Amino acid sequence: MNSFIPISIPSITPLEHAFVNKAVTSGWVSSMGQYIDQFETEFATFCGVKHAISVSNGTVAIHLALAAMGIKEGDEVIIPDLTFIATASAVKLSGAKPVFVDIEDDTLGICPSAIRKAISPKTKAIMPVHLYGQPANMNAILDIAKEFNLKVIEDAAEAHGALIGEKKVGSIGHAGTFSFYGNKIITTGEGGMITTNDDELNERCRILRDHAMDKNKRYWHNELGYNYRMTNMQAALGCAQMQRISELIAKRKQIFDWYNTQLVNIDNIKLNQSNNWSTPVYWMICLEHKYFNEESRQRFMDLLKANNIDSRPYFYPISDMPMFKNIQTDVTHHIYSKGINLPTFHDITEEQVDYICKTIVKLLPNFNKKF
Ligand SMILES: *Cc1c(COP(=O)(O)O)cnc(C)c1O
Repeated sequence: MNSFIPISIPSITPLEHAFVNKAVTSGWVSSMGQYIDQFETEFATFCGVKHAISVSNGTVAIHLALAAMGIKEGDEVIIPDLTFIATASAVKLSGAKPVFVDIEDDTLGICPSAIRKAISPKTKAIMPVHLYGQPANMNAILDIAKEFNLKVIEDAAEAHGALIGEKKVGSIGHAGTFSFYGNKIITTGEGGMITTNDDELNERCRILRDHAMDKNKRYWHNELGYNYRMTNMQAALGCAQMQRISELIAKRKQIFDWYNTQLVNIDNIKLNQSNNWSTPVYWMICLEHKYFNEESRQRFMDLLKANNIDSRPYFYPISDMPMFKNIQTDVTHHIYSKGINLPTFHDITEEQVDYICKTIVKLLPNFNKKF
């Protein structure tokens, strides 16, 4: 039998070893050093923005962006109900209230008409998430934001390099945030980035990232800030990954094509969707089965595991978590239990994808009716 195929493995090559080694050997192991500036400059160029501010992870990237915008207790931030918990916890961290709204079933992103209904006098920002690498419907979201004078922060933690038209995600709203966790499209181990074209927001993020230290008077602080800095060692890993980012993204597309060729015509399932206004990246292969529920999906994942294939369920609706008030988001609640993610990593082979697809096709007939 095939050896175990995990859902994700970072791609770390001798190039990454050399960069990190250089950072460590230089003695610049903390948050000063050449790689920090280099990584920020290269990432800003990649996204097509003026500024990129590196931080210690993708969760605090969101928090710092919110804090720098002055979003605080008493404010509301509208987010999709289907996302990773960090989107919500970062809003909580700012003191504001996350307001969960439904998604669209084709993009899996926040639904513009649902945003409209959720706007209150307290609403300060909308935070779309480009889930699993699929761009959210930004044009409609920006129109609403303009109409109601709201900020838009793109949570692009899963979508490095995805496009809407010719624009990279993270360059479309007032700010974008990224994660470089070990399973993301590029990694720094732990790490994150804020992207923006706004000079003032850039300044504000940089000050708050570094304990709000006065720029002209060391160890003087006019307010309390945070230590959200990235290390030079992490940035070195990031710089090596930036040299390979086009190839890393292209390989994930190739992996999707391998899966899609074999699964596109199979009844009752669908993979990552596409449309004519965006170019997704394939952070994770998504498979949705028309008849899955939480129970049958778990049985399917158990069977995959018995065949040495790792998988993971879609995120649960955040509003279902015990710390939040339960709300009925129809599309989110319809979709979440139907979806799984399949192994998606740079070094997966065509043979492994072939084996996974054949196993899926073999197992599926047991799931093709409603239970
Ligand atoms: C990974 C992720 C984050 C948080 O990133 P960390 O680096 O793990 O803190 C935020 N939002 C989404 C949608 C993510 O997938």
